[in-house]
Amino acid sequence: MREQALQRLRDVFGYNAFRGNQADIIEQVAGGGDALVLMPTGGGKSLCYQVPGLLRPGLTVVVSPLIALMDDQVATLKELGLRAAALNSTVDEQGQREIAASMRSGELDFLYMAPERLLKPRTLQFLQTLNIALFAIDEAHCVSQWGHDFRPEYLQLGQLAELFPDVPRMALTATADERTRQEIIQRLKLEHAACFISGFDRPNIFYRIVPKDKPRQQLLSFLAQHKGNAGIVYCLSRKKVEDVAAWLMQQGHPALPYHAGLASELRASHQRRFLNEEGLIMVATIAFGMGIDKSNVRFVAHLDLPKSIEAYYQETGRAGRDGLPADAWMAYGLQDVLMLNQIMANSEGDERHKRIERHKLDAMLALCEITTCRRRSLLAYFGDVLEEQCGYCDNCQDPVSTWDGSEAARMALSTVYRSGQRYGVGHLVDILLGRDNEKIRTAGHQHLSTYGIGKQLGEQEWRSVFRQLIARNLVEIDLDGFGSLRLTDACRPLLRGEEGLDLRKDVSKPASTPGRHAD
Ligand code: ADP
Ligand code: ZN
Repeated sequence: MREQALQRLRDVFGYNAFRGNQADIIEQVAGGGDALVLMPTGGGKSLCYQVPGLLRPGLTVVVSPLIALMDDQVATLKELGLRAAALNSTVDEQGQREIAASMRSGELDFLYMAPERLLKPRTLQFLQTLNIALFAIDEAHCVSQWGHDFRPEYLQLGQLAELFPDVPRMALTATADERTRQEIIQRLKLEHAACFISGFDRPNIFYRIVPKDKPRQQLLSFLAQHKGNAGIVYCLSRKKVEDVAAWLMQQGHPALPYHAGLASELRASHQRRFLNEEGLIMVATIAFGMGIDKSNVRFVAHLDLPKSIEAYYQETGRAGRDGLPADAWMAYGLQDVLMLNQIMANSEGDERHKRIERHKLDAMLALCEITTCRRRSLLAYFGDVLEEQCGYCDNCQDPVSTWDGSEAARMALSTVYRSGQRYGVGHLVDILLGRDNEKIRTAGHQHLSTYGIGKQLGEQEWRSVFRQLIARNLVEIDLDGFGSLRLTDACRPLLRGEEGLDLRKDVSKPASTPGRHAD
């Protein structure tokens, strides 16, 4: 079996060897067993059903939720000389009849379908008259009612177990948490499936997260190590994408902008150039990435904080697909957190939805502020355990120094409290530093007991204190959209002096220009 699989891999797909546990998965399914496959994006899930599909006689049915992805896969398979088709709303009647005819005469190897199409009684009846090699259910996490990709039709796919008892079924996904895994097994009736979990670790990616000071200068010094390399710089807004791309060009770095607001021809042309030319930097919003398959991206830089660890993992994961060393670099600051909070506050979602988004952002912030191995935390978030520190991230290579921030934290917390939990970081820092301005006088804050008690620290240091208090959930940002801070219950022991607090010393200690914000 393995011999045959390897031969197909070489002859049909043109690759030399299987990656990770592909061979085991293929053996299981080609031999008629069910499988649950958890593999990070880019890990090579497609081959896990395409090769067994070729080894087993009959038609392989692939369930996929996205038309764009289906068409992509079908085009790739056809280029390889395989017989593949997609049945979806973009196919007209005539096309559908042709596909059905080729299925009937056994002239099709792969059929891609959306679940709602497959589940039509007529389709199911028709499939029962054919010889089916295997069912592959892609993006299987869509069965999870708790996930953000929930598709009700996926719940019905469990029927396949009874209707096709002799046909092996496999579910594939890049989302690995335990709850989703259990839901997939239960809903898709995969109790007898062999479970294949691939490590989420990307050992060739070096993770570095720095506090934002002068972001453009920081980016330039980072890019100095990447002369001539292809990379992606992610920014939150379209305007910033344009500005940063133009500025990088001025600095002698070949850069292109990419965001959803560009004309579609221009966007397509930038994407093509990035894929085909060497050494280009794509400055992009998150609109850039889905389905980008360029193996020698040497770095991914973030000038703004992603809104979740999933997003961070996915975006940084576009670096180093070829397995050679690559960098994931990010500069983040308090402004990022405030900005994301404001976006969340203004979003349409209901309360529950906002709360979940908020927790995801908190986890992302915590990853930025930890003083221990980044990789270990990142993987832990996906339920993947790394026993040792990785030795290949910023915190492992340059251990972070900490300072006893208990006293400073108490001053900051009482300032939040005494000013009525209605002000943002800028004003709170003004109080602590004893600044005199109109807002202070209007509010009468020069009379607060904490006015001017924080002069031993500078503006930037206070901002760092507040950032870490937020990251540790000792204070929270009000969802009013103005960035006001409130105490949380978690800060009580610290305020009462029952607990202390170690804070991380920011690596780059800026010569702070009072009154100027980072970014
Ligand atoms: P996923 O669906 O898991 O995100 P894909 O199946 O699209 O990943 O595979 C990602 C890339 O890796 C594709 O370009 C694919 O051709 C390539 N790939 C997968 N398996 C192998 C292999 N064994 N050898 C070389 N390249 C591979
Ligand atoms: Zn590490």
